[in-house]
Amino acid sequence: MILITSNDKKRDDDRAFDDIRPLKIEAGVLERADGSAYLEVGGNKILVAVYGPRESYIRRLLRPDTGVIRCKYNMAPFSVDDRKRPGHDRRSTEISKITAEALRPSLMLEGFPRSMVDIFIEVIEAEGGTRCAGITAASVALADAGIPMRDLVVGCAAGKVDDEIVLDLSEKEDKEGQADVPIAIMPRTGDITLLQSDGNLTEEEFEKALDLAIEGCKEVNKVQIEALKEKYAKE
Ligand code: UDP
Repeated sequence: MILITSNDKKRDDDRAFDDIRPLKIEAGVLERADGSAYLEVGGNKILVAVYGPRESYIRRLLRPDTGVIRCKYNMAPFSVDDRKRPGHDRRSTEISKITAEALRPSLMLEGFPRSMVDIFIEVIEAEGGTRCAGITAASVALADAGIPMRDLVVGCAAGKVDDEIVLDLSEKEDKEGQADVPIAIMPRTGDITLLQSDGNLTEEEFEKALDLAIEGCKEVNKVQIEALKEKYAKE
């Protein structure tokens, strides 16, 4: 007789509860950008371009003591099953804002007063977890641009699906699940730079999801580092 424990139960795509989806990151994929990265995780395809630090004509945004960053997250109309209306919406505005906030603590822009760093995140195909994947890819693109950084920033989500706490939710799990906790951390210090929570979790479940998401971030961080090493080995 085979005894099935909760650890033997698999998810729809056959992953264990603590598995991330297959992940691939490439740094320096665009000629014209100062820094860039391409990331695939599960069915997500994300391209990031970074420009700067550079002068900006938008003077009201600049600061005399440090450089500033701006982020634009955009989902292509063809990136999802139902065509998405092109352009900004409340969701993309929110994700742009939280992404800039998640990345800002990692950047050392004090040496670049009155300058601007622009980050463009283009979601070409979406399949759940694009905000975390966008942050992960953007951090690689910022490093590729040679911007001084304290650490990489890495994003990953955990959540609750079928009453189990699981890592790195797919789109289906995100839509059918009970909760989603996307986070971003700086792995070296453990500082959390993004923490959101959507759905209902007990305190214990939340702690478990947070711990699992942190472990997921550490896995993703290894792939970020490999992508940068590979890029610099080519130069
Ligand atoms: N999604 C979609 N249409 C939209 C927005 C999102 O089909 O207009 C899908 C997409 O696959 C996305 C997922 O729903 O990744 C979950 O979206 P959410 O807002 O939770 O953000 P994400 O998980 O991508 O950070």
